[in-house]
Order: sequence, then structure tokens, then C-alpha cells
Amino acid sequence: MRILLLGGTGEARELARLLTGEREHEIVSSLAGRVSEPIRPAGEVRIGGFGGVDGLRAWLVDHRIELVVDATHPFAEVITANAAQATARLGLPMIRLSRPGWTAVPGDRWYRVPDLATAADTAAASGNRILLTIGRQGVAAFAGHTGPWYLIRAIDPPTGALPPRHEILLARGPFTVAEESELLARHRIDVVVTKDSGGTATAAKLTAARAAGLPVVVVDRPPVPPGVTVVATVEDARAVLSGWRDQESGGRPT
Ligand code: NAP
Repeated sequence: MRILLLGGTGEARELARLLTGEREHEIVSSLAGRVSEPIRPAGEVRIGGFGGVDGLRAWLVDHRIELVVDATHPFAEVITANAAQATARLGLPMIRLSRPGWTAVPGDRWYRVPDLATAADTAAASGNRILLTIGRQGVAAFAGHTGPWYLIRAIDPPTGALPPRHEILLARGPFTVAEESELLARHRIDVVVTKDSGGTATAAKLTAARAAGLPVVVVDRPPVPPGVTVVATVEDARAVLSGWRDQESGGRPT
């Protein structure tokens, strides 16, 4: 099967690595091109937007794609919606690979909020020295808060409006709990803001915040569009792909 693999996550790279080793699949990984030096997945890679739903649909047709795996970040809402629409119009199957979100454990002081605007209000009401770990996009939601000081951690510099009192820390995870604890202490952070990204790569900040007794504002995930098959792990994605492949080949081994 010819598969478009929408990437930009560790899971997408892992799936690309596994599928490029299987002769029955042809994979093209796609990256948005947001990060200046992305970690490239194995196999064929294209970089850059498609030009909305219509652009993506045309690209799928031109490249004779038979199935789309959307393994983008759980908060990459627009490309997920675009892929759902484009595949629905073409009658192609789509799998959404989205790692499970985080769950609070005893000792956590979390505020779950539905969006970044609410996160900005909640954080400003909870502390004065705020660690923002929401990526470089979305920082503008905090720009109107002039009181607190923000440590903005991102892989690349944020663009758009920024809160007036801030420092930017360019860093790419994963981070250890010891590193996160040291960061919180060094900057005298009193509240942490994160998206509910899930996974282990960026979870150390939650452990460090718990140990320090700090509140964490956790932004809930956007919903997955209806009609899309959702799986939580790379292995689950491979199992669904195998099922479809067998179905396509009439149950014969391929
Ligand atoms: P988004 O808001 O859902 O998408 C905005 C636009 O970027 C899309 O309409 C599409 O442009 C383009 N795009 C996004 N992902 C693409 C992909 N894999 N291949 C080609 N074009 C893509 O996405 P985002 O939140 O900016 O995320 C961009 C990328 O960063 C994603 O690949 C995601 O996995 C990764 N990422 C995001 C986050 C996050 O918190 N959002 C965190 C870590 C990594 P066109 O309309 O022109 O096709």
C-alpha cells in the first residue's frame, strides 16, 4: 500500500522506521517544516504544507496514496481535520495515531483547562513566575498578561505577540526529572503550563512540579474528527495496517 504518514512526532518516526523495512508498504513521511532542523524520519520525506484540504486531496491523488496515517502531534488540529476531510472525499481510509494523554497521580496539583486562553488566565491567577512549555505557537494567548514573568521554553523562537516580561529558553527534550527540578528551582517557577501532550519525552516536568508542590495548568486535547480510526501506539497502528492490507489482498498472505 502507498501510505502518506503525517509526522512531526517520535511515534511517526518510529512507525516510518518500521514500515520502510516492510516490502508491502511504500511510505512517504510528511513534515510541516516548522522546526529549522527537524529530525528526519527513515525513508522518503517531503516537507511543507499541502495548501489546505484541496491541496492535500490533489497531492493524495497525484501520488496515488491509498491510506493516510496521521501521526502528528495530538494538538496539530488543523492538519488532522484537513486529512480527515481529504480522505473522506476520496474514500480513503485514515488512521489517527495519537498517544494517550497524561493522568494525574496523587500529589499532582493540576488545573485542566479547555484551551490556551483559559490556560493563560488560570496561570496568571495561580502564580507570578510561569514556565510555559506549550511549544512556540500559542504563546500569543499569554501576551495580554502584563503582571507575571514567563520562562518560554521552545525548540525554535516563538513568533507573534509575547508577554512583556519574559525570557526565552531554546531547548529540545527529552529532559530528565533532575534537569526539570533544577530549572524550576533556578528560575523560582511557581506554576507550569503544558499541553496534555502525553508520552514520556516531556513528562519529567510533571514529576518535577509534583515534587516541588507546584500547580500545573494542563490544556486538554482537541477532539479527533468523527469517522477516523484512532489508535494509541505504533504497534496498534501496524496491526490496523496489517488488517487492511490483508483485507485488500482478499485475505491472501502478501
Ligand atoms: P496544524 O496547526 O495542525 O497545521 C497547520 C498547517 O501546517 C496545516 O494546515 C498544514 O498546512 C501544515 N502541516 C501541519 N502538519 C503537517 C505535516 N505533517 N505535513 C505537512 N504539512 C503539515 O499543525 P501544528 O500544530 O502547527 O504542527 C505542525 C507540525 O509540528 C506537525 O507535524 C506536528 O506533528 C508537529 N508538532 C506540533 C506540536 C503542537 O503542539 N501543535 C508539538 C510538537 C510537534 P497546509 O494547510 O498548507 O497543508
